[in-house]
Amino acid sequence: MRIGCPKEIKTREYRVGLSPAAVTALTARGHSVVIETGAGEGAGFDDDAYRAAGAEIGDVDAAFSADMIVKVKEPQAVERARLSEGQLLFTYLHLAPDVPQTEELLASGCTAIAYETVTDRDGHLPLLAPMSEVAGRLAPQVGSWALQKANGGRGVLMGGVPGVGPAEVVVLGGGVVGTHAARIAAGMGAEVTVLDLSLPRLRQLDDLFSRDFRTRYASEAAIADLITRADMVIGAVLIPGAEAPKLVRRAHLPTMKTGAVLVDVAIDQGGCFETSTPTTHDEPIYEVDGIVHYCVANMPGAVARTSTIALGNATMPFVLALADKGWARACAEDPHLAAGLNIHAGQLTNAAVAQAQGRDF
Ligand code: NAD
Repeated sequence: MRIGCPKEIKTREYRVGLSPAAVTALTARGHSVVIETGAGEGAGFDDDAYRAAGAEIGDVDAAFSADMIVKVKEPQAVERARLSEGQLLFTYLHLAPDVPQTEELLASGCTAIAYETVTDRDGHLPLLAPMSEVAGRLAPQVGSWALQKANGGRGVLMGGVPGVGPAEVVVLGGGVVGTHAARIAAGMGAEVTVLDLSLPRLRQLDDLFSRDFRTRYASEAAIADLITRADMVIGAVLIPGAEAPKLVRRAHLPTMKTGAVLVDVAIDQGGCFETSTPTTHDEPIYEVDGIVHYCVANMPGAVARTSTIALGNATMPFVLALADKGWARACAEDPHLAAGLNIHAGQLTNAAVAQAQGRDF
């Protein structure tokens, strides 16, 4: 099969769909790969690295004329116009709230498999998890920067020093993001408490990490109490398919320490702090009532190289199966990959997307 990988054109997107390692795996199996000039630059992979892996370097037309196109972000309007009948698109799509994208993909006649709806045998989303891992591990790192005095924070060092106590960090939600955030914050020396509503999850976290951090049931009272002592609160809750619940409201802010930091990782689902609004890597923080807010919706973009490699590790088996077998056989043999099929030959093939857009399914 011929596989194309275009350069991402969405603003400030530095990741790339295929790393040189993926190209090596594909060409070793007899597939041909065309990478758009400069596609990997933002992630630290130059064209020569791709050539060495066996790829051709071509222009955007060459990348979009392949049988299968592997990307990171949903195709933008000019990219959608390049798609044609019979082509396979494998990327993040997030179609549910995006009617124009859905209509143009349907009209193109392409087959589109969305990373975010591919499942695994435990019912998890294996192509979303790596980005949650990245965002979770990044959260205490950006939060500790925001805690510095010059950035509006309290001027507290995460690990303290001998004779001076560490920062207190509260993590709301103990899923993928929350667990990785808690581990890194604890590793930096902070005192960490993770709150979740799921008792099975709290038991699991306690079994695995009781030496690193504490757990608490996420009652309103526990949240209200803990945030008054926190130097940093990391928002990492998710109710699948729904807007994030507002766990910290504006009325809570005066009860918190001036210069405390809120890192709202759940901002891509509307945020779990009432005072959160999405920010960008250019201006990541702002202040409300003396509390510093960090609300960047695409946190993994800040560490594009790590994110590209992590995403590639997760997508690689699926890319290889699609290239080796074609989408129809690959999906017939793997129901988890089939769960990623969102669009085929002008038909919407994902029930949740159809329901979200009020379409017949
Ligand atoms: P997850 O499903 O692994 O974990 C979510 C956890 O939240 C679960 O353990 C659940 O029990 C818990 N939860 C739900 N409601 C709660 C409540 N009211 N109080 C306490 N806990 C509650 O999800 P995840 O992969 O960790 O993702 C968390 C959020 O981070 C999602 O909104 C996701 O989209 C977002 N995210 C953002 C970025 C970014 O760049 N900003 C990157 C990756 C993920």
